[in-house]
Amino acid sequence: MSTESLHVVVAGAGAAGTLTAARLSDAAARSRRRIVIEVIDPAPGTGRGLAYSTPDPRHLLNVSAGQMSALPHTADDFVRWLSDREGRTADPGAYVARGLFGAYLAHDLDRSTEAGRDYATIRRRHDRVVALDHLPASGDAPAAAGVRLRLRDGGTLDADAVVLALGNLEPATSWLPPGLEESPGFVADPWCPGALAEVPTDRDVLLVGTGLTMCDIARTLLHPDRTVHAVSRHGMLPRPHAATSPTAPTGTARPGGPLGPTAYGIPATEPCDLAALKRAVRYRAARSRRLYGDWRHAIDELRPHIPRLWQQLSFSDQQRFLAAEMREWEVHRHRLPPATAQALTAARRAGLLTVRAAEVVGARTGGGREITVRQSDGRALTVGAVVNCTGTEGRVERLTDPLVRSLLGSGLAAPGPHGLGFDTAPDGRLIGTAGRSTTPVWTLGPLRRGNLWETTAIGEIRVQAGELATRILDRTTRTTRTAPR
Ligand SMILES: Cc1cc2nc3c(=O)[nH]c(=O)nc-3n(C[C@H](O)[C@H](O)[C@H](O)COP(=O)(O)OP(=O)(O)OC[C@H]3O[C@@H](n4cnc5c(N)ncnc54)[C@H](O)[C@@H]3O)c2cc1C
Repeated sequence: MSTESLHVVVAGAGAAGTLTAARLSDAAARSRRRIVIEVIDPAPGTGRGLAYSTPDPRHLLNVSAGQMSALPHTADDFVRWLSDREGRTADPGAYVARGLFGAYLAHDLDRSTEAGRDYATIRRRHDRVVALDHLPASGDAPAAAGVRLRLRDGGTLDADAVVLALGNLEPATSWLPPGLEESPGFVADPWCPGALAEVPTDRDVLLVGTGLTMCDIARTLLHPDRTVHAVSRHGMLPRPHAATSPTAPTGTARPGGPLGPTAYGIPATEPCDLAALKRAVRYRAARSRRLYGDWRHAIDELRPHIPRLWQQLSFSDQQRFLAAEMREWEVHRHRLPPATAQALTAARRAGLLTVRAAEVVGARTGGGREITVRQSDGRALTVGAVVNCTGTEGRVERLTDPLVRSLLGSGLAAPGPHGLGFDTAPDGRLIGTAGRSTTPVWTLGPLRRGNLWETTAIGEIRVQAGELATRILDRTTRTTRTAPR
């Protein structure tokens, strides 16, 4: 075992950064390497990030508890944690509050910190990484190429390896009509703590976007004294999860059978086109409906294969998917917990929630917080608040975040395919503008969207975190960087 410590910085303490730090600690203990892990994030919490910070108990996981383990090889870990916490056996089929999952991720890190304490030291800093410079290997220390990070508080930090777990960076605002952003009644980021506190309870509200974020925010804002209007270009709502898991009739094969090289009728190694893929998905959905009375199983079985299928599509087919098919796919793939779906259906029936397909084309601020919004269907709505529920900006060149600007400006990172996230090697290492991975900097989760497409949920992030940890420990065999200051 080397007596020198490896210094790894994890920027971001949301789900991805927290899982990475925990798996680095586990990997250090396994390989008996000393490691110092600095987890940097200005946020007060650890393990929460954008998705799991919400204190509203009506904001539920959109995946059942049995599929939300932090550990890829211990499927029931989250359910066991829930059971211990509640003092009774938790239901793996339940959709629990997202805030609980944030607490579980913090517990996962504490557990790994304790188990790996002879080898790993984990430090949590409340700061923001604003820039990153490559420290090339010197003649004296050829193995020591590393990274210098600049922090918002003015400090610097040297590291042998860096993991950028920056997640969902900024709300998407490219749809905004002139004047809306400056309006006091406009809420740019509904997940920002306290963002909805100023929304008046006695005025109607417009939510722009009709995906999972809108569904959560509508649940928070639904009130007998007002109507919540939701609008998006397509007007489609996420489909609900089945209330109970379907089981195949006895003696029938699972749709698709074992997921071998020809799963979905698509040869694993041959490029496939979008039209063939759509046919295969429709075929599988119809077959699943026949066997189970439900299409959902087909979508869920396809999911682990998405990164491979995405990469097999030509660039122009990927573009076609993004332009014409993505919304349809997303409403089937990212589904609503049954309780949320029921609450929204009841609200629509009671006239407290409307959902329309239209674009916001203009906005005028009246007295106080009042905003009159013009829609492409000719309607004008006067509301007490407009809430941006269109999700986060995936195209990195549109982001104003200083670290992202610095990485793109220096060429250490380049936009991923279609401008989505950063371009990454198969192991998650950043590929710079020179087309090579020259810096020991990796990323995971939403910032790999252009390369993998399916990379934002815990099912993918937990696997990426484990693989990254092993990779970083394997690669950085011996280092001579100075200890973090
Ligand atoms: C509302 C919502 C609900 C979801 N629900 C589910 C679900 O039920 N099941 C599921 O599997 N998936 C779900 N997801 C998807 C997935 O789990 C999340 O996208 C997850 O939050 C990704 O984690 P992350 O750590 O990459 O990003 P984030 O949660 O965005 O965390 C990133 C962190 O990085 C920090 N940061 C950013 N820049 C810097 C910097 N320069 N320096 C230091 N720190 C920085 C931020 O402060 C933040 O805390 C959901 C996503 C959303 C948005």
